Amino acid sequence: MSFDATILTLYPDMFPGPLGMSLSGDALARGVWSLAARNIRDHGLGRHRVVDDTPAGGGPGMVLRCDVLGQAIDANVPENDPRPKLLMSPRGQPLTQAFARELAAGPGVVIVCGRFEGVDERVIEGRGLQEVSIGDYVLSGGEMAAMIVLDACVRLLPGVMGKEASGTEESFEANRLEYPHYTRPREWEGRSIPDVLLSGNHAMIQRWRRQESERITRERRPDLLER
Ligand code: SAH
Repeated sequence: MSFDATILTLYPDMFPGPLGMSLSGDALARGVWSLAARNIRDHGLGRHRVVDDTPAGGGPGMVLRCDVLGQAIDANVPENDPRPKLLMSPRGQPLTQAFARELAAGPGVVIVCGRFEGVDERVIEGRGLQEVSIGDYVLSGGEMAAMIVLDACVRLLPGVMGKEASGTEESFEANRLEYPHYTRPREWEGRSIPDVLLSGNHAMIQRWRRQESERITRERRPDLLER
């Protein structure tokens, strides 16, 4: 059972892009997950394959047409498709590690990438699109946001990360930021590895890591401790 991603975009050539490399690229090649990037413009209107129009009520920019996007969704996603349909959008629910885990546990995902000023509200309602944001800033399109969603999901799929254990102690897994890491050399430019990490005492090491994790979270992201 693989995790199947369908992306609806005006720029299908952007995919797999960085997802074709490293961890996610190897997993893609092994068939752990699949990626189909489909061009919304294939469903554009007329000889020029028009996909957008001016906003009703006036204002700047262009809006992706609901009929065109609706067609693109219907042509690529069967009605009984069990996968959640996401729309990348700055007004969406913020992407979290918990949501990535939830998605990764399912059959895959359909992701619509917006462009221009956004998409006609009626297709969001009519096709039940779930709006997801990757953060409080505005990108020029949903493609890179979709890649971020996919990257966060794919590394959680069984067999993608080297060690099953890595991932469970990471940042956000318990609403905590991760403790600091060290590796060789033991001394570097007058800085040494904390003694406790070289002590071989696993209980002490665990306690130190938990304390550091809490200290860093308190300093940098106190909001996480309240969740
Ligand atoms: N006018 C919109 C911004 C449009 S940006 C607004 O003010 O909310 C164009 C497209 O980029 C969006 O339709 C969306 O698909 C994508 N995008 C931009 N910022 C994003 C973010 N923070 N998270 C997810 N997608 C984003």
